[in-house]
Amino acid sequence: MEKNPEKMEKIVSLAKRRGFVFQGSEIYGGFVGTYDYGPYGVELANNIRAQWWKTMVQEERNIVGLDSAIFTHPKVWEASGHVSGFSDPLVECKECNTRSRADHLIEDAGAFADEKMSIEEINTVFDGLREKIVCPKCGQKKFGEVKRFNLLVQSNLGNFSGDWTKEPTYLRGETCQGIYINFKNVLDSSRVKVPFGIAQIGKAFRNEIAPRQYIFRLRELTQMEMQMFVKPEDEMVVYEAWRKKRWQYYLDLGFKEENLKWHEHENLVFYAKAAWDIEYNFPFGFKELEGVHARGNYDLTQHQTFSGKDLSYLDPVTNERYVPHVVETSVGLDRTFLAVMTEFYDEDELGGETRTVLRFPKALAPIKVAVFPLLKNKPELVAKAEEVYTMLAKVMRAEFDDNGNIGKRYRRQDEIGTPACVTIDFETLGQDAPELTDTVTVRDRDTGAQTRVLISELVNYLMQA
Ligand code: ATP
Repeated sequence: MEKNPEKMEKIVSLAKRRGFVFQGSEIYGGFVGTYDYGPYGVELANNIRAQWWKTMVQEERNIVGLDSAIFTHPKVWEASGHVSGFSDPLVECKECNTRSRADHLIEDAGAFADEKMSIEEINTVFDGLREKIVCPKCGQKKFGEVKRFNLLVQSNLGNFSGDWTKEPTYLRGETCQGIYINFKNVLDSSRVKVPFGIAQIGKAFRNEIAPRQYIFRLRELTQMEMQMFVKPEDEMVVYEAWRKKRWQYYLDLGFKEENLKWHEHENLVFYAKAAWDIEYNFPFGFKELEGVHARGNYDLTQHQTFSGKDLSYLDPVTNERYVPHVVETSVGLDRTFLAVMTEFYDEDELGGETRTVLRFPKALAPIKVAVFPLLKNKPELVAKAEEVYTMLAKVMRAEFDDNGNIGKRYRRQDEIGTPACVTIDFETLGQDAPELTDTVTVRDRDTGAQTRVLISELVNYLMQA
């Protein structure tokens, strides 16, 4: 496993310095497991969402979108199995009271355990490794017993009794339950027929025991999930097709294939037919980015039982009635964000100077173009640059910068991944060479090459370049 802590530090520091990611509640000393996206971060996150939505909804004829509520009837989480089974194995250090994920400590010690094993099984594996496993905080080996810890986050929504722990409502632990409970609504209100999918992007909440690794493991996270409802006998064919599509999605985003890896789940939950993760080569090694799962008809059957509502489907052609099976693709927006920062972070030398550059593809770049007047103290240059900026800002996310020398302004834009910089100079005003009137210099982020472009052709040029 390749690890690169220096790269991680550089990304975290760049993300803070340039307003991509801030620690949550930083002025209060932080709030574990939460992060805030700053001005460039929110642009990048929005672009990641838009790319996912384009691929999963816009370009898929039989997938529709949904935005379901974060709060649901508490029975949803009983039906889904989260109230009884959504837990991770927790172990506490007796020396410093730090709580850790037992399966992660076991993994770090070179053995295997996961949350699907029984707590007795995990304890047996853990006990066999007690000599090897050290507390990540204090380095001691004094652990208690491994216990199950439920990850659902509870709330007092709608409960005024003062004792809301008795009948808690839950913040959703995953977005897909909102999809299952709307299966019938979507079926009855749109022209979809099985096979069809429902896609959703939204917040989910998990009481993660040890939120670490920056935005990789959060307590408040955003998921981008798609559930495809299929005929039982088609499940595995559809599943394999989605495995291919999701792999290709990352290549189309511009990821190098060597930074992606498939990981098959060792233990499957009893209803699942198959579960593979796409892992990404994060600076701390290959870790789960996305899960692609064949879930049988468990989800709809459970909600049918708990709600008492018929969630079966009547095939209009064959007249067969069945509960559709589900193929799921599920990826974290935050993990994609970190993968994108990792993938496109680069340092190189341009014009004899070393620089940091985020080589984002245009679709992901927070700012698509930056506009500079050559000199800040020449009102004619500034006025023309403002005119060009206003024109471009109507079509794409643009930034105006008149601060410092041009070289510095280029470096600033390279660091946030802006693909093109446009400079308005005296030629633009027709002062030096009349044939260059109303042209600007467009400088390319990756090569540093400069091209003279007519202002009237600038939008087209930037869209294509
Ligand atoms: P892990 O094994 O890393 O805890 P998981 O298997 O619990 O993840 P899923 O429940 O399959 O994850 O969730 C689907 C996706 O949601 C994951 O592939 C990941 O991208 C994202 N995700 C899950 N938990 C978190 C988290 N705590 N913080 C950020 N993203 C998360």
